Amino acid sequence: MDEFEAIARLFRPLSEGAPEALDLSDDAAAIPPRPGFDLVVTKDAVVEGVHFLASDPPDLVARKLLRVNLSDLAAKGAEPYGYFLAVAWPHDYADEAKAAFAAGLGEDQAAFGVRLFGGDTVSTPGPLTASVTMLGWVPTGRMVRRSGARPGQVLMVTGSIGDGGLGLMAAQGGLPGLGEAEREALAARYRLPQPRLALREALLAHAAAALDVSDGLVADAIHMEEASGVALQIDLERLPLSGPAKAWLALQPDTARGLLDLATAGDDYELVIAADVTVALPLAMAAAAGGFALTPIGRVVDGQGTILLHRGEPVLARRTGWRH
Ligand code: ADP
Ligand code: MG
Repeated sequence: MDEFEAIARLFRPLSEGAPEALDLSDDAAAIPPRPGFDLVVTKDAVVEGVHFLASDPPDLVARKLLRVNLSDLAAKGAEPYGYFLAVAWPHDYADEAKAAFAAGLGEDQAAFGVRLFGGDTVSTPGPLTASVTMLGWVPTGRMVRRSGARPGQVLMVTGSIGDGGLGLMAAQGGLPGLGEAEREALAARYRLPQPRLALREALLAHAAAALDVSDGLVADAIHMEEASGVALQIDLERLPLSGPAKAWLALQPDTARGLLDLATAGDDYELVIAADVTVALPLAMAAAAGGFALTPIGRVVDGQGTILLHRGEPVLARRTGWRH
C-alpha cells in the first residue's frame, strides 16, 4: 500500500461526514469559524519505544494517540471536534498493521465524536511515529487554564493515580508480586487511557484551573503551581488508588516512598483541578455521572512550590516525573 492508497483506503473513510476534510483530496482542510467559540488546538506525538511498546497492537496505539490528545481537550473544558494525523510508517510495516491502526482510529472516533480532517503520510527507516493535532471548541474566552489556582482552593484529581506507570511495568513483564488479573488491569490502563470528557461542562462552570496528568502527578502539579503563582500541598495518603495499585503498595517496604513512586510515574491521563471548596460537590457529581471518582488530594496555599506530605510530614521527591 503506497501513500496514496493508504490515504484513499484507510484515511478517507475516517473523514466521512466532515465537509471540512474535502474528502482528503485537496491540499488543505477548510475550517469554518463557529461564532461564540474559540478553537482549542492541541498536539501530541507518540513514538514506538517511548510512548508505547513495539509489541502493543496497532489499533491500541492509534486509540491511545487519539486519547492522549482528547485528554488535553478534557482538561481545557473543550468539546472534541476533529483532528489531523501525521503518521510515519516503518519501511517494513505490514498492510494489516496499517489497516489495524486505521481501524483503531475509527473505533475511537465513533466513541468520542471526532472526525479526521487531514494529515500527512510518510515512511521512515526508524520506529513507528505518529502525531495528532486535535481540535475542540470552548465558549469564547472560557478555556480552563493552568493559571487560575488561588490560595484557599481545594486540589482534586480524577480517577486513580499511578496505574499508568505500574501498567508500563506490567506490560513489560514486571510486577511479579501481583496476580495475573491485576497486572493485566494495570497494563490496560497504560495502553488505553480514559479522557475525562464527562467533566467538560462542570469544569467550564466551576474550575479555577485544570491540567491533565501525563508526566506524573507531581511534575504536572508543579506546572499548575508555577503558572498560578501559588503553592500546592498534596497529601500523599489521600491519593486515589486502584485495587491493583493498592495491592502493589502493600508490597512496598516504605509506604510513603511507594506513594511517591505512584505520584511521579507517567501515563495516567487524569485531570488535576483547583476549585473553590463550595463547588467541589457539583464537580464530584459530574465525575460520578461519568463513572469515575473526583478525590480531594490537597490544597492551594500562599507561596511557591509543590509540597508533598505524608500524614502531615513533608516528603522529598527524588524525581518529580517523566522527562524526555
Ligand atoms: P500535500 O503533499 O499536498 O501536502 P498530501 O499528498 O500529503 O498533500 O495529502 C493529500 C491529502 O491527503 C490532504 O488532504 C491530506 O490532508 C490528506 N492526508 C494525507 N495523509 C493523511 C493522514 N495520515 N491522515 C489524514 N489525511 C491525510
Ligand atoms: Mg498539496
